[in-house]
Amino acid sequence: ARNVDIVVGPQAYHRLPDLIGKAGRGEAAVDTDMPLASKFGALPARTKQARPTAFLTIMEGCDKFCTYCVVPYTRGAEISRSWLAIIDEAKALVDGGAREITLLGQNVNAWEGEDDKGRAQGMDGLVRELAKIGGLARIRYTTSHPNDMSDGLIAAHGEVDKLMPFLHLPVQAGNDHILKAMNRSHSAESYLRIIERVRAARPDIAISGDFIVGFPGETEAEFQDTLAIVEQVRYAQCYSFKYSPRPGTPAADMDGQVAADIMEDRLARLQALLNRQQADFNAATVGRTTDILLERKGRHPGQLIGKSPWLQSVVVTAPELSIGDMVDVTIISAGPNSLAGETVRRKAA
Ligand code: SF4
Repeated sequence: ARNVDIVVGPQAYHRLPDLIGKAGRGEAAVDTDMPLASKFGALPARTKQARPTAFLTIMEGCDKFCTYCVVPYTRGAEISRSWLAIIDEAKALVDGGAREITLLGQNVNAWEGEDDKGRAQGMDGLVRELAKIGGLARIRYTTSHPNDMSDGLIAAHGEVDKLMPFLHLPVQAGNDHILKAMNRSHSAESYLRIIERVRAARPDIAISGDFIVGFPGETEAEFQDTLAIVEQVRYAQCYSFKYSPRPGTPAADMDGQVAADIMEDRLARLQALLNRQQADFNAATVGRTTDILLERKGRHPGQLIGKSPWLQSVVVTAPELSIGDMVDVTIISAGPNSLAGETVRRKAA
């Protein structure tokens, strides 16, 4: 297309200055390579951190090849950033004012690397090391794959206070035939066992997930299995979607594509159930006193909005407080998407 000057892939955007130069000279500026060497070392260190919460990418890519998903084709194979680079960036973020860091990756819990003594580490080791950073109060991570929920990471949920009691663990469907067609490489039962073990380690953990309804070939009975797994897990919040074919993925060419009106009906029933569960989860926190990290201003004067440990938005009216404060708050009411609280006391930094 004549109006396209530059084509750059997700693993090559650190080469944008060269590409812009080439485009300026009228040369072809195309770089869609997915080199094994990570781009991370080529990116400048982050120096500014104006918010109390920060995202820190620790890995990219995915080797799982779910049949509906483009990520393995567009983002390439799993690449983990080095232990030292992650720890250094986390320290810089905390020095800049971050009190909460969310570790990011398409398959974040597949992170692997070596620590500063050359020992093999998984994400649980990384979380334990990050928890030693003074001034960092909270650690989160997203998104996880059930098959990468290691024993160590499950144990960390019970042992590392700074690791927040929230786990986003997509299952996508509750029927094993559909999970196999999706190439999810876990079953409904193995997913439920993981949730059971995570809850044994951290009983108050909030579980979140992703769902796709109307995957090719999904029957009403198979969809009912998705409703059944939701009933068993009891989610605190979820993302749910109608299946939509992605060109080039195996599922896009599968027989049995489900009609739009059937997908809409299934999504409506699933979301009604998930919304009830989210409302129940929020209602159960009323009367509880918990720490809130204030992140931004609310709509009205003196209002601030923060997050509970379970990733709920909590609104407080407290003109004496500031963004970045960690406060104990008693939850006084709950809506479907947010809570209201009364501050009890400011917590020490
Ligand atoms: Fe990977 Fe997740 Fe996509 Fe599956 S859905 S291929 S695990 S990114």
